[in-house]
Amino acid sequence: MIPTLLPTYNRAPLAFVKGQGSWLETADGTRYLDLAAGIAVNALGHANPDLVAALTEQAGRVWHVSNLYQIPEQQRLADLICGATFADTAFFTNSGTEAAELAIKMVRKYWSDAGSPDRIEILTFEGSFHGRSTGAIAAAASEKMVKGFGALMPGFRSLPWGDMDALKAAIGPQTAAVMVEPVQGEGGIRPMPDADLKALRAMCDEVGALLLLDEVQCGMGRTGRLFAHEWAGITPDIMMVAKGIGGGFPLGAVLATERAAAGMVAGTHGSTYGGNPLACAVGAKVVEIISDPAFLAEVNRKAALFRQKLEGLVAAHPNVFEAVRGQGLMLGLKCKPAPADVVKAGYGEHILTVPAADNVIRLLPALTITDEDIAEAVARLDRTAAAMPKP
Ligand SMILES: *Cc1c(COP(=O)(O)O)cnc(C)c1O
Repeated sequence: MIPTLLPTYNRAPLAFVKGQGSWLETADGTRYLDLAAGIAVNALGHANPDLVAALTEQAGRVWHVSNLYQIPEQQRLADLICGATFADTAFFTNSGTEAAELAIKMVRKYWSDAGSPDRIEILTFEGSFHGRSTGAIAAAASEKMVKGFGALMPGFRSLPWGDMDALKAAIGPQTAAVMVEPVQGEGGIRPMPDADLKALRAMCDEVGALLLLDEVQCGMGRTGRLFAHEWAGITPDIMMVAKGIGGGFPLGAVLATERAAAGMVAGTHGSTYGGNPLACAVGAKVVEIISDPAFLAEVNRKAALFRQKLEGLVAAHPNVFEAVRGQGLMLGLKCKPAPADVVKAGYGEHILTVPAADNVIRLLPALTITDEDIAEAVARLDRTAAAMPKP
């Protein structure tokens, strides 16, 4: 008999009733060190007092008003995020997937308005993940996500990850956009080198294609900059944001330049909940906190500390770990055993990590994790590795 919850997840037998900072607690009071953070969502930790205050203050005033009216909290968030980034304009969504849908529509509208409605080809990369809508699975085109779901939305062409020669050969006057995660998340914490991002930007400019970045997982301070592309000194035309921006409240965004977004006039897109006052009140507080240079400097300091300790962990357990990779507090440990087994062994040591492709486990702690908790995490990972069955 099918469970009352549609069984699309293989859930761990863990239920958390309470959280504080980098810790989660089960009903019997057992504490788990959370390096999953809701998959890079709880960027400021659990029960962050500033976010609790922003949410409850807004909850006491107004929860929801339609986008038929002005929403001051939404306007404030748009001003904040546009002020802190390349963007001239923002549309708020409830998720990364919805951001992908709008981003794809925006690319198509741009070329339609430019007199080339057939210019719909979006180049993507293998191992990418852009969400679970029919459009987003067509974009990522991974076998396990598209199988059984029928004809896919046309217009996507997937290239080998990091193959700049393949990109050079594929990009041309038919290319509408290139869509890429500056650091692949689900794909196994794979950063695109700065030089490649620069070359990618230049290739897009050469043929007039739009650069569409998916920073749903790698954005919002995760890599030590507000957005990962800043490390390469480039800017996109359109960018998807979600996960960390709501700090745990469902919120996403599409950010764009005026030129890329010009076709999205009244009536071309909409959302009932997108830009809801509760989400935007929290989002504005998150952006305020994370965009502070002093906050980002701390992320970079802690990332260096964590990474150094993880290098030691890898050296101590060559049978379990092969390498550390990633950027900032978006870290991956390449594993020898199946990553799901390592994650599961971690539960035994009361530490939460996330499996990814390419035999990697992801460490995506709250950006506010303390030095003490970083040391504790490495100690628990050390015990996890020691507990793994010998090959
Ligand atoms: C999680 C994720 C998405 C999808 O976001 P949802 O909020 O789950 O719809 C898209 N792109 C990337 C890079 C992601 O990590």
